[in-house]
Amino acid sequence: MNKCIYCGKDKTEIKFSREHVIPELLGVFDNNITLRDCVCSNCNTGVFGPLETRFKEDTHEGIMYQRFNLSNSYQIRIRNKKYKISTKLGFDEPLFNEMFPFFKINNGKPEITPIPQIKIKGYAGNGYLILLIDNIKKLPRGRTKFKALKNLLKGRKSVDVSIFTYGDNGTDMHELNEAIELVRELGIPYKPGTQKSLPPSDPSEIKKIVEINVEGQIDSDTVRVLAKIAFNHFAYCAIDSGNESILHHPNFSKIKSYILGNLELPLKDVVIEQPSSQGAIADEKERNIRLIGHMIIFDHWNGKIISKISLLGSFVYTICLGSIPDELKKVDFGNGHMFDPVNRKIIGLTKNEERRGNKEKLSFSLFNGY
Ligand SMILES: [Zn+2]
Repeated sequence: MNKCIYCGKDKTEIKFSREHVIPELLGVFDNNITLRDCVCSNCNTGVFGPLETRFKEDTHEGIMYQRFNLSNSYQIRIRNKKYKISTKLGFDEPLFNEMFPFFKINNGKPEITPIPQIKIKGYAGNGYLILLIDNIKKLPRGRTKFKALKNLLKGRKSVDVSIFTYGDNGTDMHELNEAIELVRELGIPYKPGTQKSLPPSDPSEIKKIVEINVEGQIDSDTVRVLAKIAFNHFAYCAIDSGNESILHHPNFSKIKSYILGNLELPLKDVVIEQPSSQGAIADEKERNIRLIGHMIIFDHWNGKIISKISLLGSFVYTICLGSIPDELKKVDFGNGHMFDPVNRKIIGLTKNEERRGNKEKLSFSLFNGY
């Protein structure tokens, strides 16, 4: 492509870089689909980078994905600015309710899993950092990541730190002492404070998780990221079917300006239906379940191209990408995919009864007759 699919800048003016259709926060896939040579580095690094960071650290959806730590990161960052999370883990001892609740996907269901962690307050003002002890231990000292982390933690005091580790019977201090050493290596002059322990218990007993602030917390950062994923997916399919020129059609100018943050729109103009917690694909409807994956579908409806997107089995958002250009008005317009972050697979979706269940070749065409 010679022009950036978002801002329209020419390759002769600016460098282009690779854009992941699905941000890495949401997992990596065996056939990772990326837009190569389609997005300029100004849009990619200059605009989408900071947008995705805010999404990850300060929106309901973004923080939820961090809880699954699908990219096996060594740190979780929470800003606590616009989106305040309040979590109760149901422990009698309040200190343990301070732990960051991690989840894993077990037999298709999310399950809370305690992970040894260091919590450090004071990130971005009132936010905090969660360091995953086992992953931090593996970071080579003196290398970029460890040094950057040390730099970020400069000025943090001992009182900002809480450490959560395992130990037998409250007497095995091995893991705790290792973690204390780690905090000191990171430059914080840690002095042990109050120490509490819980009797050994089966992690599956920690089920009393209660959350506040869940319903429909969407703001423009969330919607811009969702719209970007939806447009990226549509663009990938357009390129795959040789229709890349359609991406510069004026019908998409509005959604692109909105994604780039150059145009403000009322949320209801972008998310055109109330987000739903009901499954959107046939398998979910028939079995009355939610699949813990990322679903992205586009189709035409009332003269518009709409994209239905649901990440990690969360709310289904219906996003309007713009009026459908005449050249795309064909009966078989539409396509859909499910991205499974546990098995790292991409699965084709169709609402065509006859094609369902047939293992056909994965198609990204615009005209797959979703
Ligand atoms: Zn651009």
